[in-house]
Amino acid sequence: AYSGPSADEILAKRREYLNPSIFHFYKTPLNVVEGKRQYLFDEKGRRYLDAFGGIATVCCGHCHPDVVAAIVEQTKRLQHSTVLYLNHAIADFAEALASKLPGNLKVAFFTNSGTEANELAILMARLYTGCHDIISLRNSYHGNAGGTMGTTAQSIWKFNVIQSGVHHVVNPDPYRGVFGSDGEKYARDVEDTINFGTSGNVAAFVYEAIQGVGGIVELAPGYLPAAYDSVKKAGGLCIADEVQAGFARTGSHFWGFEAQGVVPDIVTMAKGIGNGYPLGAVVTTPEIAKALTRRSYFNTFGGNPVSTAAGLAVLKVIEKEKLQENAFIVGSYLKERLNALKDKYELIGDVRGRGMLLGVELVTDRQLKTPAKNETLHVMDQMKELGVLIGKGGYYGNVFRITPPLCFTKEDADFLVDAMDHTLSAM
Ligand code: PMP
Repeated sequence: AYSGPSADEILAKRREYLNPSIFHFYKTPLNVVEGKRQYLFDEKGRRYLDAFGGIATVCCGHCHPDVVAAIVEQTKRLQHSTVLYLNHAIADFAEALASKLPGNLKVAFFTNSGTEANELAILMARLYTGCHDIISLRNSYHGNAGGTMGTTAQSIWKFNVIQSGVHHVVNPDPYRGVFGSDGEKYARDVEDTINFGTSGNVAAFVYEAIQGVGGIVELAPGYLPAAYDSVKKAGGLCIADEVQAGFARTGSHFWGFEAQGVVPDIVTMAKGIGNGYPLGAVVTTPEIAKALTRRSYFNTFGGNPVSTAAGLAVLKVIEKEKLQENAFIVGSYLKERLNALKDKYELIGDVRGRGMLLGVELVTDRQLKTPAKNETLHVMDQMKELGVLIGKGGYYGNVFRITPPLCFTKEDADFLVDAMDHTLSAM
């Protein structure tokens, strides 16, 4: 049984000693002390179904025994910096990762986070092309350091510091965008931005195939091939940010970009890659990777023996437990059930996403699409009381983000939807 400090004591320490800008979910924040697969437990031993853990990194489920064993064994044997000496863990994982990627995408650079991975990808594209300008989508989230804060395009995540050379193009958002689901029309803004906002050449185009923080917005079909064309004509590289959509989460594919049939020049990843252990990666072609050899480049802990041992174990679990297939089957079922709720409640304006990367947008008026922010918070709180944890996102804070560990079952999906149904019916 848990014998640590109470939730109130932790909250008091947090207020006094921690970053005042961090937030927590729920009126009464949850004190989680243990995790097992798709479940979290609070200090009283109460169990919660964790339908948001996937985004907080866990793809194989909390504390998956194979991943824990890999971490423990490697920690007992050796933990060290990535550079200077040889170690098999990093080489084995790089090889395994390359086997999951299409084309000539086979050279990995490891980092500790998604922000670092995207910073490196941007640097690489600028060095390789000799250009500075980057194009990113409005409503995107790519990180919060110098370069990535520039590419992130939601005011709530941007501080007023220099973010040079980034152009934010119209978001191909099928629900709120002016061109509906016509991806090619949105892509004309990429062409226009290049023609009228740059020298005609750009370093890169960076995007999430399904925007996570932005509220599970799946880019309109046909958008990526057309946008890629314009970017390539302008000499730029295409960077797929797979921090949320990668690692089998979309079910239909292993990577989010695959759904639109494109092959990026650079792929960045984090979160699910280490099932909770800090790890990120940039994978690119040998030719582009060479741009980094003009100077020395290293990252002390990026790809250290323990994190890469975790990464390798994750790939094996995804395969062994057929998690991609499960993400597809259970995710499709869950989406179907959520769509049935949409038919029942006017408050639900949109249900979207793929596999286990799903969004439910709440609006007080379906015609005007008025964000139902307070209702979103209320439903989340009530569902927590019923034992189900979901996330939220979107610029207006009115989209439920349902991104469970990939081991989520049909019974879990039923429990989640029933809890949502019960809460909505009582409003
Ligand atoms: N890219 C995407 C798509 C993300 O969702 C995030 C984190 N929310 C990041 C990059 C940044 O990752 P990290 O927080 O690990 O730096």
